[in-house]
Amino acid sequence: MQGGSLHLELLWLGSCYVLTAERESLVPAAGLVWPGSICVMLECDISRCCGGGVAVDSEVEGDTEMATQTVESVTSQTAKKKLVRRLLQDRSQTIRHLMQWAFVALNAWLGLQFYLWVRYFERGGEGLYVSRPAGVEGWLPIAGMMNTKYFLTTGRVPSIHPAAMFLFMAFVTMSLLLKKSFCSWICPIGTVSERLWRVGRKVFQRTFRLPRWADLPLRSLKYLLLGFFVYVAGSLPAAALRGFMHTPYGMVADVKMLNFFREMSVTGIVVLLVLGVLSLLVQNFWCRYLCPYGALMGLASLLSPLKIRRDAEACIDCGKCARACPAGLQVDRLVQIRSVECTACTECVAACPAEHALQFAATPRRAADVAERWRGRVAGPTATAAAILVLFLGTVAVAKATGHWQTHLPRQMYVDLVMHADEWTH
Ligand code: SF4
Ligand code: SF4
Repeated sequence: MQGGSLHLELLWLGSCYVLTAERESLVPAAGLVWPGSICVMLECDISRCCGGGVAVDSEVEGDTEMATQTVESVTSQTAKKKLVRRLLQDRSQTIRHLMQWAFVALNAWLGLQFYLWVRYFERGGEGLYVSRPAGVEGWLPIAGMMNTKYFLTTGRVPSIHPAAMFLFMAFVTMSLLLKKSFCSWICPIGTVSERLWRVGRKVFQRTFRLPRWADLPLRSLKYLLLGFFVYVAGSLPAAALRGFMHTPYGMVADVKMLNFFREMSVTGIVVLLVLGVLSLLVQNFWCRYLCPYGALMGLASLLSPLKIRRDAEACIDCGKCARACPAGLQVDRLVQIRSVECTACTECVAACPAEHALQFAATPRRAADVAERWRGRVAGPTATAAAILVLFLGTVAVAKATGHWQTHLPRQMYVDLVMHADEWTH
């Protein structure tokens, strides 16, 4: 039986099962899941469900030899393979970290400018005036989602928070093309999360993983949050979405968010501290369990043509990639990583010592020679960074060039709205 059909049959039975290479038997992965639901939401990688003990034909398209290779046969190889060392030094993490800090700096600058803009209107329109940075709307993903629906159903660009829509569409497109690179390359919260677990690992000499029985249901929390927001945006007709955006609450949603952090309650501070401590101990705690935006990016990333791909012939089965993976994926057992948890951070690629064994790449060519198989298919770190920048800056440029980047409201209206921002409710 083909892996895909076996997987689907098991899903329709209402349970998700994983055939692990070690146990060579069917074991429940997540207990009961909804019949017909997407197993990948709970399980780390659909290919694990379909790959064990059956032909992993969908894993390496176009390579007959590898296509018929089973997970069992991969893992039972005892003869040590010869290591062909990588020729070039890996710079992926240097480039990725530079991108991360560049976007942290950009967000800090946007935040400062926005704060000064808000203070000007809080003073009744007196003192230092700076223009409103529309880029701050990247922090309004729900407005972005609502405006995207409005745009798709009416064909009209919304006049309130249009930048939120453009940035939302840019980030989703990024996930459709480049896996969940948004999370590990440019999201400031992802960057802070990553620094926290690195600090935690230094302090405690390790990080912790939740037991499987807790990890799987907790991972579904972000989908429940996402489902709620999608329901809200999806159930409102276009006229209602426009009406909501034109309420005082909708117009100053960004100011209200700033005020949430400026006037944080004791409960808010405690929640943030708890999240901070958990992020020190568990890798990417917020992203893995709670972030609905990351959940959406993960679902979009299932369609990405670029994935982490392992070449079983070049791989020496050292397991370094799996040990380096912050998402805990079994990179050393799979020929491609489809998981919604893979953020394209390429930590696994950086850890791999073997030439052509692991890469962020499109489907390999049909070729007997390893180098030929991957020629022209690999997205190196420079190309990945360039693609992210082109998508991001290109979207901003298009929005600006067409006059749809800024929210245009009269200055006196902003004075009234911002001065009373705390009073507006939805
Ligand atoms: S280490 Fe590799 S498999 Fe793991 S999340 Fe990063 S890119 Fe994906
Ligand atoms: S790091 Fe992973 S892909 Fe690279 S050789 Fe070792 S097991 Fe194979």
